[in-house]
This record gives sequence, structure tokens and C-alpha cells, in this order.
Amino acid sequence: MVQHFWYDVCMIETALQVPMHDWNIAGHEHSINILRRALAAQRVRHAYLFTGPEHIGKALLARRFAQTLLCTGGPDPLVAPLNPCNACLSCRKVIHGNHPDVHYISRPSDKQFILIEQVRALQSDSARKTLEGRRNIFIIEGMHEMNLQAANCLLKTLEEPEPDVVLLLTATDPGLLLPTILSRVQQVPMHLLTTAQVKAALEQRWHVEPEEAALLAALAAGRMGWAVQAVEKEELLEERQAQLETLVKLLEAGKVQRFEVAQHLSAEGDKIRGILELWLLWWRDMVLAANNSLDLIVNVDMQGRLQKQAAKVGAAESRRMVHAILRTMEALEQNVNARVALEVLMLDMPAVR
Ligand SMILES: [Zn+2]
Repeated sequence: MVQHFWYDVCMIETALQVPMHDWNIAGHEHSINILRRALAAQRVRHAYLFTGPEHIGKALLARRFAQTLLCTGGPDPLVAPLNPCNACLSCRKVIHGNHPDVHYISRPSDKQFILIEQVRALQSDSARKTLEGRRNIFIIEGMHEMNLQAANCLLKTLEEPEPDVVLLLTATDPGLLLPTILSRVQQVPMHLLTTAQVKAALEQRWHVEPEEAALLAALAAGRMGWAVQAVEKEELLEERQAQLETLVKLLEAGKVQRFEVAQHLSAEGDKIRGILELWLLWWRDMVLAANNSLDLIVNVDMQGRLQKQAAKVGAAESRRMVHAILRTMEALEQNVNARVALEVLMLDMPAVR
């Protein structure tokens, strides 16, 4: 289920400039064009599903689409333009997150799932008239975190939507959603950017110095959202460093220490997936380092340690770890006990002496 991310990362192409357009998003032309075609034909569907790895920009694209659907700055103020004007009152309200006709739904931080009560609230909101705009828009972030009861309830809205309702859903992987939901949405897949695209965007739009931009772009592994977070939140790089240190030490640690780390990690909740993605990229780099393909590695600032460990572990064992981590991520998505899943992973990990 999560394998597409790994393969995407493996197939990152090289070089390309960053075309800018009024959607104010770096890259993702293919995804944006799916939406622009619907706008041009004035055939906007009732539901769209934006899919792709964490931090790739799914929620951002959903918000920009909502903004375009409500924009009144086009040639005909009654018709949604192909690009948002970014200047009209409606655009500004969406940008600031206070447009009364754009509703946001996501998993409450203290809950494991998006709940049926939230879907029922959506249904009562969607039944009433829009307050200002042409459309009543609902952005549901993280559809893969919706429980079955809530998803079945949402189906009713997808089957018989009010004429002005548009649902914009996001999910890391369409495979995690009910087929009955998938059959009622237009999918908008989003792909990783190239390292060159991320670097160029960081330099042009966030005014990051070229050297730092090169490092962040390599570490981002195609996820623009991750790169932007790293620019805005310095601790992110420190956290990454600490998490990789833990991983490197684990290889030399005994079973008791490994189980202590598994216990500690299992209490990290939401962060586990991000940590495992980091580990996945590390082991992918180990495969590459073992094959002397250093120009393709993501963790460019830790090349020396990668080479040293890869020489001891070898390509076959590293590849086995990539698959072990993917299996752990799948197990966690299916709500297997996190501590048990992580302990199994610890036992799979090769020992380096
Ligand atoms: Zn506008």
C-alpha cells in the first residue's frame, strides 16, 4: 500500500525549472491541469480525492482549488476562472482560512479517527444555502484516518450531493479507502517533485541560500511541504538528526536496548509514520551506498556514515530492511498494536558489530 512512495523516490528524475503560475504552487502541473480542465469545461465534479505521500502538498492544492471555485476576480464574476486572482475578497478569505463557505474537517488531535459526528455536522452544513460564494466546499484532510462508520455515513453525501456541494478529500494512498468511496470521486494523483525543482523553488520563493537549498532539497526527497517546513522550523532538521542517530546506534545495540527504543517510539503517536519514512529513506540510501550509487542518495550530509555501515551490512540485507519497514508501515495503517509492530521490526534489523 505504501510502496508507491518508495518507487516514486527511486524514480526521481533530474533537473527542471519551476514554472510558476497563479495557483502559487511549485510544480504539480499535471494535477493542476486536471482541475483546470474541469473549470474550463464548467464541469466541476462533486468530489475530488488528492493523493500522494505526506508533505507533498495535497491540502494546499485542495485549498487553491477551493479558492479558484469561489474566486470572483475572473472575466465573468459569476463563473469560476481557470486560475485564482489572489486579490478579490473571496480569494483573500480562502487564503486566510475564514471564508464561510469553505469548511475544514480533519482528525481531532486527541482522537484516532475522523468521527461520524464530524460527518453528520458536514451533512447538516451542506444542506443549508451558501453564505457568500457559489459553492459549499468541504475539505476533508486525511480520509485514510476516517473510521468505517464515518466513511459509510459520508457515502450518503457522495451518492446524493446537494447541487452546490464540492468535497475535496486528501489521502496518502487511494488503496486505503473504501472502493465505494473511490468510485464516486475524481482522483487527482500528486507526484514527487524533482530535487532540482525543490531546490529552485526554495531559492526563488523562500530566498534560501543555494548551499542550504541543495541540502534541504536532497533531504526533502521530492516533498515540497517537507522542505518548506524545514525552512520555517529549524528544529525539524535537528529532530531528523536525532532520529537518524537513534537508528544508527540501534544497529549496534542488543535486543534489550532495541525493545526499549520500540517502546519509546510506540508512544510517539502521530510521529511514528514520519520516523519510519525517515528510516525508509536511510535504508534506501544504504542499498544505493552498497551499490556505490552515492550520487542518488537522499541523506547527502551523512554520506560517510552511510558508506561505513553499508560496507558492513551489504545491499541484500539493506533491501530486506526496506521491505521490513514497508511492512511495518502497512501494519500500523491497519491499526496493529504499534509496540508489537515496532518490536518485530527491531528483530528484523541486522546487527552491526
Ligand atoms: Zn479571486
